[in-house]
Amino acid sequence: MPAPQTDTRDGDAPMFDPDAFRLTPEQADLISLARRFGQRVLAPRAARYDREATFPIENFRDMHGEGLLSICVPKADGGLGADYQTYCLAAAELGRYCGATALSWNMHVASTLWPGVLADELPMNAEDRALHEKRRRLHYHRIVTDGALYAQPFSEEGGAAAAGSVAFGTEARPVDGGFIVNGKKIFASLSGSADYYGILCTARAEGESASRRNTLFLAIPAKAQGVEVTGDWDPLGMRGTVSRTLLFKDVFVPADEMLMPRGVYFQAATRWPHMFLTLTPTYVGLAQAAFDFTVAYLRGEVPGAPPVKRRSFPPKQFAVASMSVTLEQTKTLWFQAISEARANPTREQVLRAYAAQHTVMENANAIATTAIRTCGGHAMLKRFPLERIYRDSRCGAVMLPWTAEICLERIGRETLYKPGETDD
Ligand SMILES: Cc1cc2nc3c(=O)[nH]c(=O)nc-3n(C[C@H](O)[C@H](O)[C@H](O)COP(=O)(O)OP(=O)(O)OC[C@H]3O[C@@H](n4cnc5c(N)ncnc54)[C@H](O)[C@@H]3O)c2cc1C
Repeated sequence: MPAPQTDTRDGDAPMFDPDAFRLTPEQADLISLARRFGQRVLAPRAARYDREATFPIENFRDMHGEGLLSICVPKADGGLGADYQTYCLAAAELGRYCGATALSWNMHVASTLWPGVLADELPMNAEDRALHEKRRRLHYHRIVTDGALYAQPFSEEGGAAAAGSVAFGTEARPVDGGFIVNGKKIFASLSGSADYYGILCTARAEGESASRRNTLFLAIPAKAQGVEVTGDWDPLGMRGTVSRTLLFKDVFVPADEMLMPRGVYFQAATRWPHMFLTLTPTYVGLAQAAFDFTVAYLRGEVPGAPPVKRRSFPPKQFAVASMSVTLEQTKTLWFQAISEARANPTREQVLRAYAAQHTVMENANAIATTAIRTCGGHAMLKRFPLERIYRDSRCGAVMLPWTAEICLERIGRETLYKPGETDD
């Protein structure tokens, strides 16, 4: 007799069925760890962090216990050893249950993924490689052993630096034993809660001109003298990320705090572009959450919802069908894009990555919008998660460097002009 099949459309089932998407048993286990953690720990706490706009520090302490803070730390260094694709799939599962936690977790994990899997695929001379491997073990150790949290504040006023058009205005002046950092970062998720701020800044000696090639990825201890968290935080969505402003005034940062050798971030940004796609998993999870809620609500299965099953009405069936089509399109394109991440992707793969980013960020919000219209007035009440999912999903399209607008601009330009081509 054939084994009974899992109902992969069930709201509690994995978003990506391991058999259908050909995941290894090890990947399936890690993703399942994230999903169960999301259901058990994140979901019950999400409304409070959203209401209070406070950082979900308890979630991160609990993640440490589960090994999730070290998901991308190599096994040899005490981590779970997830690769890029596995990380993305696990992050999407967390995004289903708490968008703000998943997005903040992404900032933390990037501080291990970029110096880890990405850096391993980028060229470095033997001396730089050896020093880099020694330094990253310091960061890994803090995370694995002490549960240290890393933030990833890149954004600066004006947006051009975070979009990759100009050098970062935050500067690191080389001095004996390290750097003196001065500058300002806006929208720093985990502000006030991270132990280290993994900033991007421009290494610039006296008299040298600023260049994107000299971008440094530097971990600044939150307690270092000259670090200040400022500004208020009362936004529309992703309220638990607590993304306030950071000021750095003559902060001394030891050279060992370099998360990548000088010049390697620039290499990564140009040769490993999928590094910027890691903001999307959270929003794939939110899209799934809006869909799952709608199905459960219309079936009369959401606790506290009015005891009316609306599923027999054709307009509801059409709406669910249209959400399902959009969700399937989004997930399939996204899965393809995250599966292609590697150094030196083809032009087609880069264009697909932009298309996936645009699709996820726009469709997450479109699905959440349809969900609210379809479920109706009661579903907007704050005792249900849908209105939070809707507000959180609105934030994805504005996130640099690949905002929805920038993705379209690049897809259009890079489709019509081959590399190096002009109209002259
Ligand atoms: C909830 C949340 C959490 C965040 N967390 C972090 C974080 O942890 N770390 C971090 O670094 N940032 C973070 N950000 C910041 C985010 O990535 C953007 O930098 C920020 O939203 C930019 O806001 P802005 O008002 O300066 O927009 P602007 O940069 O002024 O952009 C406004 C519009 O102009 C367009 N635009 C901007 N630059 C260009 C360009 N060069 N070419 C073409 N069009 C352009 C954009 O498409 C956008 O729609 C977060 C943002 C949010 C909303």
